[in-house]
Amino acid sequence: MEKARIGKHSTVVLFPCPYQGHITPMLQLGSALHSKGFSITVVHTQFNSPNPSSHPEFNFQSLPDGLSQEVISSGSLLDIISELNVTCKAPFQECLEQMVKARNVPNDDDKVIWVIYDELMHFAEAAANHLGLPTILLRTISAATFVSRSAILQLEAQGLIPFQESISEEAVPNLPSLRFKDLPISMHGVSEKFLNLMKEACHSRKPSAVVWNTIECLEQSLLAQLQKQSKVPIFPIGPIHKFAPAASCSSLLPEDTCCISWLNKQPDKSVVYASFGSVASIDAKEFTEMAWGLANSRHRFLWVVRPGFILGSEWTEPLPKGVKEIVGERCCIVKWAPQREVLGHAAVGVFLTHCGWNSALESISEGVPMICRPYFGDQKVTARYIAHVWGLGLQLENKLDREEVARAVRRIMEDEQGEQIRARAEDMKGKIELCVKKGGLSYNSMDNLVQFMSF
Ligand code: UDP
Repeated sequence: MEKARIGKHSTVVLFPCPYQGHITPMLQLGSALHSKGFSITVVHTQFNSPNPSSHPEFNFQSLPDGLSQEVISSGSLLDIISELNVTCKAPFQECLEQMVKARNVPNDDDKVIWVIYDELMHFAEAAANHLGLPTILLRTISAATFVSRSAILQLEAQGLIPFQESISEEAVPNLPSLRFKDLPISMHGVSEKFLNLMKEACHSRKPSAVVWNTIECLEQSLLAQLQKQSKVPIFPIGPIHKFAPAASCSSLLPEDTCCISWLNKQPDKSVVYASFGSVASIDAKEFTEMAWGLANSRHRFLWVVRPGFILGSEWTEPLPKGVKEIVGERCCIVKWAPQREVLGHAAVGVFLTHCGWNSALESISEGVPMICRPYFGDQKVTARYIAHVWGLGLQLENKLDREEVARAVRRIMEDEQGEQIRARAEDMKGKIELCVKKGGLSYNSMDNLVQFMSF
């Protein structure tokens, strides 16, 4: 057998997409590979740059990303990501060239440089290919989201997008678990830019392998189908965070740990944790309804209200007076929480979530049932799977009102239906623990990935 080249000989260059939900799993993958002996260099944009001091074990290299102020101010994810794919290519290639040059010193010529890039940063693959460097694509979405994106491309080719409201409740052809309205697009259609990005992310990649932050025990049949169609190996190693040190943090915002002291004082499984990730925002009316719904449920709640979460407000200005009165008692509000620690805390009984894929995986891994309130994109697919395929939560589907929120909280925390959901969530937690343990599916997949990268 050929001698493994792992260890100081192998460098992994990570290029994350600069949003929290993408940076976190990429750096967690970096931590996992670092623990196996790889040296890690994170090449990142200036926009939303990660904090190097959180990962002293990595090298960080900032790339002049060339993003225009205009596109940054637009706040449009699609515009920012599309522009980065153009502006980052040349500087990234230059950066890789420097690394290749540095590698070619005497006695160091067997050093391998792997490039692992986020599926939305497709320029990185082209830059690496140009220099003959092997690449690995990281998918930070579920397999279900991937197939729903492929379905959009097919439907669009058939002229079925935008779809009529009359079919929004109908199942998508070949995807019986999803209705048209669950697809990660707006009913009004999609832009050319969106389609191009999806095409790049879904089809035209030629990496050496695909690493997937999902779990076989959740998505076995979809993954089997995708592996069949794929020309390269797929490594489902989710939930990636289980392979990274518990203390490792990639938050772009400072975590407020006072909520852990507050949770420490609450009884087991008594708290609703409400948080909506790093990008979603709501209007003041929906925020008010949510506030009253949580308060009227009569349960305790910990709420992450990110600055900018409420449109037109700095922070929690629209919080109704009656709800303000219970802050510090059965309600705790923070700007950003150490979410993995919160979800692993004994006091948390349910998670009111936007269903970002990382949040969903973190909740599922801890056996916390969910109330799903998706806003856009893949959140809708994940919500549908959580509530209707995996049976790990409930979905709030209609225009949000306080009654519906309070009812959903009570159903999960108090009802018989809630008891069944809680039992399934607990059962899934056990299955995931087995997956990430020595000999488990994700554990083996991680081992296979390391072997793959070592020869
Ligand atoms: N998160 C956190 N503290 C918070 C809210 C979110 O650490 O107060 C983390 C969360 O644990 C997850 C990430 O931010 O890892 C959000 O990613 P996700 O895919 O759930 O949603 P997105 O932000 O991409 O919509």
